[in-house]
Amino acid sequence: MLKGTFPVEKFKVIPTPFYYYDISLLRETLETVKTESDKYGYHVHYAVKANANPRILSIIAEYGLGADCVSGGEIRASLAAGFPANKIVFAGVGKADWEIELGLDNDIFCFNVESAAELEILNEWAEKKNKIASVAFRINPEVDARTHAKITTGMKENKFGINLSMLGQVLDLLKTLKHVKLIGIHSHIGSQITDISAFRSLAIRMNEIQEELDQRGITVEHVNFGGGLGVDYYHPNHLSIPPFDDYFAVFHKLLQVRPGQQVHFEPGRSVVAQCGSLISKVLYVKEGEAKKFAILDAGFTELIRPAMYDAYHRIENISNDDPVEFYDVVGPICESSDVFGKEVELNKAHRGDLIALRSAGAYGEVMASQYNCRQLPVAYYSDEL
Ligand SMILES: *Cc1c(COP(=O)(O)O)cnc(C)c1O
Repeated sequence: MLKGTFPVEKFKVIPTPFYYYDISLLRETLETVKTESDKYGYHVHYAVKANANPRILSIIAEYGLGADCVSGGEIRASLAAGFPANKIVFAGVGKADWEIELGLDNDIFCFNVESAAELEILNEWAEKKNKIASVAFRINPEVDARTHAKITTGMKENKFGINLSMLGQVLDLLKTLKHVKLIGIHSHIGSQITDISAFRSLAIRMNEIQEELDQRGITVEHVNFGGGLGVDYYHPNHLSIPPFDDYFAVFHKLLQVRPGQQVHFEPGRSVVAQCGSLISKVLYVKEGEAKKFAILDAGFTELIRPAMYDAYHRIENISNDDPVEFYDVVGPICESSDVFGKEVELNKAHRGDLIALRSAGAYGEVMASQYNCRQLPVAYYSDEL
């Protein structure tokens, strides 16, 4: 079976499980993001929550991208990795006071505000610090991302954003607040979106929102479409760079940009998913009555996506080219949900074989936990092995 290229000989001396990042693929992806967004003068902030590994962050910062943060910790990590404060945006439904202070103290580019209550608190803090906070309203555009329910964020029933019907009220409140300034409109409808028509609907909805703002005499400096572009988890070897060309082209074609207005994006997964793999070892091959299990030394503590979102990851036995057999590939964690895949086609598995779980660069290492008193996984990089 077709496999990714891995330095298997070098892997043999590294204790498993570990994350492995293909740095040339990351750079190639970033170059594509730059080329395709520069075509239209679009601005890109990388969504740090997809992967906050310091080395990965500093490489992304090299390419001039900004950072989209959802916590104070991510703001600190971004600053440490070299993202300039004036390219940091801060989103999230539950910003704590210390996080708001951190953002204000560093004069970050923009707070993406998700409720009237948050706007008032931000205004209070900005007043205490004698500053004016730049804000974008995160609008819940009621566009269906047509993705997994747990990663859909733009519908009425989601906790995120200001509902469209409430926009007028929040704009009225804004007029009474002296220490916040509206500079943008933001929306993020979900993640792993592979149906590009969802982005078409989003661009069209933004036109409608802007028309409503026009009627109130408001023009914002930027509109921000969040992230969400999906990756091909089934074909990481063929389609290792997501279709950034088609993605940006949709907005270029449909969005009615106001004179001088900037257009912003916040891709996370699409930038980092394909460059990362979780490398694990087969501990045991267990023959069941009706099936065989390949029991790995990695579990959902290292990669939680299959357990949490029923996500698919391509799994490859990179130690041999034996004929394929079918296995349920499972981890060692004491939970029935600790399954990476059922009826997975693998080159015949033996104890000690190295197994690569592909497309694990996004929401992989960053979601690792120490459940069962396990150690957090270590990362290795293709250019440092
Ligand atoms: C998670 C998130 C993103 C990134 O989403 P991806 O699907 O990883 O591209 C962007 N913006 C906001 C506000 C987010 O919460």
